[in-house]
Amino acid sequence: MANLERNKKILLDLVKQPGNHLCADCGAPEPDWASYVLGIFVCLNCCGTHRDLPAVSRVKSIRLDYWEDSLVEFMRERGNSSSNAVYEKCVPAFFYQPQQKDCVDQWIRAKYERREFTGEHPYLQREYDSDILESTLWKKGKVKKSFLKRTFLLSRKEFTLRYFVREDVGTCGFL
Ligand SMILES: [Zn+2]
Repeated sequence: MANLERNKKILLDLVKQPGNHLCADCGAPEPDWASYVLGIFVCLNCCGTHRDLPAVSRVKSIRLDYWEDSLVEFMRERGNSSSNAVYEKCVPAFFYQPQQKDCVDQWIRAKYERREFTGEHPYLQREYDSDILESTLWKKGKVKKSFLKRTFLLSRKEFTLRYFVREDVGTCGFL
């Protein structure tokens, strides 16, 4: 039989520790939820997306739910910093990491479901690691509302994403 009060106190102590005191996914302060599969503390907003990914994550409230001793021990062993050392190991310099109250759905799916930033997919890293990446994207036109093909250039050094409106004259805009 788990000692409920004791386990709750351990969790409330754990969530105050550096790393755990901010949501593992968006950095919101004082997360109230935890994924006991991943061993991380997350905010209510991010918790919603974790609930949609039962194959990779399961969540409980650290204040309201029942916690078994073994799960509490697992949370103690893991925590946000060690989890992010794995799941955010290779986040590309240009990748926008959502902040508190942003839409976190695709970020969390990329991180845990598709494991895009663990470094285990060399084909993804190859593009991300180059200093300049040139490719195409489809941008919705302001007037015609149809999607137009654009060349874009990512520059790691300048920390910019430029896209070219017309290939022939090379005018460009910034996203
Ligand atoms: Zn969050």
